[in-house]
Amino acid sequence: MKELIFFKPFFKQVLWGGHKMKDFYGYSIPGDDTGEAWVISAHPNGTSTVVGGTYDGQTLKSLWENHRELFGGMDGKEFPLLVKIIDANDHLSIQVHPDDEYAFCHENGSQGKTECWYILDCDQDADIIIGHHARNREELQQMIGGGRWDELLRKFPIRKGDFFYIPAGTIHAIRKGTLLLEVQQNSDTTYRLYDYGRLQDGKPRQLHLKESMDVITCPHTDADTMGAVQKYDGYETRILVDGPYFSVDKWDIKTQVSISQLYPFMLIDVISGDGMLDTRHVKAGDHILVPAGYGTVHCQGHMELIITHHGLTEPLCT
Ligand code: ZN
Repeated sequence: MKELIFFKPFFKQVLWGGHKMKDFYGYSIPGDDTGEAWVISAHPNGTSTVVGGTYDGQTLKSLWENHRELFGGMDGKEFPLLVKIIDANDHLSIQVHPDDEYAFCHENGSQGKTECWYILDCDQDADIIIGHHARNREELQQMIGGGRWDELLRKFPIRKGDFFYIPAGTIHAIRKGTLLLEVQQNSDTTYRLYDYGRLQDGKPRQLHLKESMDVITCPHTDADTMGAVQKYDGYETRILVDGPYFSVDKWDIKTQVSISQLYPFMLIDVISGDGMLDTRHVKAGDHILVPAGYGTVHCQGHMELIITHHGLTEPLCT
C-alpha cells in the first residue's frame, strides 16, 4: 500500500466566486465565478476523484466504501473530513453551523460542522468575521431582530498565513478578497443569518434565523489553538489546531524532512512551492491522501504543506 493518492477537485460556481484558483494553482476552473474547490471530498454534493495510480478515476467516496483498508479499517458511515479551497471575490453570507447533536436531530442524522481556515492569500484591506459581541441570548436576539449587524459582529483584519478555528456554533463569514484553505467536518449544513440584503435571481436567499438562534454559542468564546513555531534543521513546523475532529499542522520544508504516517490516514495539501514526496513530484495545489500503513513520507524541496489527521472521535451513533 505504499502509494500516495492524488485527487482532482470538484469545483463549485457561485455568485461570490472568482478565478484565483486558476491564477494561483493552474486549475482548469469551469468559469470566472469559481468559489469553491472541494479538493479532498467524499461528500455526495461534490466528491473528488483520484488521478493516476491504482485507483485512477475512482471517487474518494468509493475508496471509503470499498477500500477501508486504506483508512486502517476505521469505523464510520462517511469519510469524516472535507478539505476545500475558497475564493471569495465578494462577501459570503454571515452564517453558523450546528454541532453533531443538533445536526443529527434536525438535519437527517448528518454531521455537525466545525471548520478551520488557513489564509492562502488576501487583499491588503481584507477582513473576516468571527464571533459576536452580544453578552447574552436576549441581547443576541435584540441585535439580530433589529438588524444591528455592525454592533453585533466581530470583524478582524487578516493577512496571508493567518489561521482561524471555527467550532460549530460560531458566527462567521469569509469576506471579499480572501483565498483560503478550509479543513472541516464532512458536512454541508449551513444556517444563513444575514446576506447583506442581496438578491439572487431577483429574490433574497433563504435565511435560517430560528436554527441560527438555536445553535449560536452565546456569549462568544475565543478558541486560541495555535502552537509556537518549532524550528529544525531543514524545516519548521507549527500546530494550527489539535481538536476533537481534526488536527492540522503547518510544515515549512526548506530542504528536507521525513514525516511518519502513524494514523488511519493523513492528508497533505501543498499550498506553495514544489518538491518531492518520496518518488512523486508535487507542487502548489496538489492534495494527497497518505493511506494507513504507508510508513514514512520523505519530503524534499522548498514548499509549504498543511497536514491533517482525523481527530479520532468515536462516531456518534454506534
Ligand atoms: Zn462555514
